[in-house]
Amino acid sequence: MNKNMTSNSDMKNMDIKALIEGLSKNLGDTDNVRTRFAPSPNGYLHQGHALSAALNRQFAHHFDGAFMLRIEDIDATRSRPEFCDSIIADIQWLGLNWDDAIIYQSSRIDTYRSAFNRLKALGLLYPCFCSRSDIANVLIGNPVQHGPDGPHYPGTCRSLQYDEERIKNEPHAWRLDMAKALHNMPILKWNDMEHGEQYADASIFGDVVIWRKDAPASYHLAATCDDAADAISHVIRGMDLFAYSAVHRLLQHLLDLPTPRYWHHGLLTDSNGDKLSKSSDSISLMQMRKSGVEPQEILKFIIFNQISTGNS
Ligand code: GLU
Repeated sequence: MNKNMTSNSDMKNMDIKALIEGLSKNLGDTDNVRTRFAPSPNGYLHQGHALSAALNRQFAHHFDGAFMLRIEDIDATRSRPEFCDSIIADIQWLGLNWDDAIIYQSSRIDTYRSAFNRLKALGLLYPCFCSRSDIANVLIGNPVQHGPDGPHYPGTCRSLQYDEERIKNEPHAWRLDMAKALHNMPILKWNDMEHGEQYADASIFGDVVIWRKDAPASYHLAATCDDAADAISHVIRGMDLFAYSAVHRLLQHLLDLPTPRYWHHGLLTDSNGDKLSKSSDSISLMQMRKSGVEPQEILKFIIFNQISTGNS
């Protein structure tokens, strides 16, 4: 057990079913439930990932549905095969096996490209040649609105003349012109099974990147396309991704894709109240697996923690 976390004997009696049964609101259609656990292989998984995978699997099986494993490996600069192998080994070790073949985002670039072309044809994207430091320099002395991901893109490339030659020769990303995308947009909503109905206000992010300079599709575009392609009925993921659902809802509308139900579950924290993360020194599932921890102990602990912190 993670040395930063406290255990509790009551946890033996707790189980995921109780959490699911506690979700009285907005379950939506539960006839063809399909869920997914979608880790990025850019680090080792921790217990927060085990929670997400367990909730996804149990939710799907509770309704006789299917649970999928999707490896979000399109960012070649950060994805590593050893992380990928470890994800698979961790999930199998926890006994959370998936029901269909594993989906690798790196095999779906064509799907993302057609969605990108569609947004481009709608006139909603513009090429952005800025580097991180270009943006940082413009922001000095030019206050802009801040969103959940920090300051909005200051708009340097938004009204550049379309320059085919420059696009051909210079590395660039493609951004969504948020004001244009939201012009005459009906009110968009989405449902969270724990947090209820939500208004999707993607403007809080400013002009998000849709196609990246250093990797293909952005997370937003790829995840939205995949959830539709895999007929995911219920997206179950941590609260750290809650705000992004507004962007995903907007993309679903622009691309004529269905809107799944969502469940953004609480995040596991260590004894200092800090959320577990790949980048901090949170103990990884791989370390626990190799040091002989019983997987059942982890599963009991994470579910107990989720129940006792009042999530669901
Ligand atoms: N790949 C994302 C992550 O590892 C999760 C994406 C999602 O569940 O939508 O945080």
